[in-house]
Amino acid sequence: MARNTSASNHEVVEDCIFCLIANDRDKETEVLKKNEELVCFTDIDPAAPHHYLVIPIEHIHSCSSLHVEHAGLVRRMVEMGKAVLREQGVTDMKDIRLGFHMPPYISVNHLHLHVLAPSSQIFKAKIYKFIPGNIDFITEEHLQKQLKKSWNIQPFKTQWKGNKLISKRQ
Ligand SMILES: [Zn+2]
Ligand SMILES: [Zn+2]
Repeated sequence: MARNTSASNHEVVEDCIFCLIANDRDKETEVLKKNEELVCFTDIDPAAPHHYLVIPIEHIHSCSSLHVEHAGLVRRMVEMGKAVLREQGVTDMKDIRLGFHMPPYISVNHLHLHVLAPSSQIFKAKIYKFIPGNIDFITEEHLQKQLKKSWNIQPFKTQWKGNKLISKRQ
């Protein structure tokens, strides 16, 4: 994999489309919100009337690469997703679905939070991809709980076993 350092000092994986988007190098994608840590844009293959992705600019592979120190990152990803929903006119913040796909069920190997609304209007043909509790999809609340369970065990290593996040001392 070709790796380069961008002006912002983040490592850019040249063949990762989300790294290119995060570093303003994909002209096709309209960025809706950006700060020094995160970027939000519309999913190229929307599964609901509102369907956005929030990614860290840093190339993190997936939620299986996360551990307890990433709880704040996940929280900020959620905050940005909700802020974009509000900016896009979504008012019923209970009828939303936020979560992550789990490896190997990921389309791009760069951590991304799916932000969908209204949850009750997810397109029938695509709803199977976003069912809370299924092996391939974990809601942000569930992921946060899994991360916090390991709060006092450090250093440690986390990995997915089936649909469970397992933490182990190193
Ligand atoms: Zn990337
Ligand atoms: Zn995904």
